[in-house]
Amino acid sequence: MSDSLLNQCISLVHSLIEENWEHLSALDQAIGDGDHGTNVKRGIDALHADLDRLATKPFGEGLGAAGMTLVMKIGGASGPLFWSLLKGMGEASANEPRTQEDVAKMLRAGTEAVKATGKSDTGMKTMIDVLEPVTLALETRAGITSDEISEVARKAAEDTKALVATKGRAAFLGERSVGHIDPGGQTVALVVESICNEMEKLK
Ligand code: ADP
Ligand code: MG
Repeated sequence: MSDSLLNQCISLVHSLIEENWEHLSALDQAIGDGDHGTNVKRGIDALHADLDRLATKPFGEGLGAAGMTLVMKIGGASGPLFWSLLKGMGEASANEPRTQEDVAKMLRAGTEAVKATGKSDTGMKTMIDVLEPVTLALETRAGITSDEISEVARKAAEDTKALVATKGRAAFLGERSVGHIDPGGQTVALVVESICNEMEKLK
């Protein structure tokens, strides 16, 4: 593997969002304003166009720079949240993570940064409801496989259906948000699954 981990992940997520952005916007159409897929696509397209610059940076710095691009390109509620996620992860992991513990520490820092920025926690029907269970699984289940992590992420996104939104635009719907998957949570789950699938292939 000659390409850096960050660049590989950006390329992977770029293809993933190319295939899924319409679905993500449709989820946001149901309980928000219908722009989540286009927001995420605008962000990842900008990162993909910026790969050469990001490639010159050490891993943690690169993540921070990528987060900065996302906040500038995405805007809305999710821009600052994805920025916090990447900035938190980058600050916790100066170099590419090597072990499950490294990945867990990195995701814990990112998840806590999102909670702080969003003034949110689990149970509010947001991306936190996927980030937290994935992080916790990495922290507590030694030797967890990438397939098992994917399964945790998939189930967590599905489980957001049952929650009443109390943060973000979906909160305006209150009880009527029940029965719909949270778009931000679905994005996080798709990204986790896609990176896990790739890791599985490299084995
Ligand atoms: P906007 O709400 O500005 O239209 P998006 O549609 O791009 O932004 O993103 C919506 C997603 O952002 C939601 O599905 C949810 O996962 C996430 N979100 C919104 N507010 C918060 C918050 N306070 N904390 C955590 N996540 C949030
Ligand atoms: Mg929206």
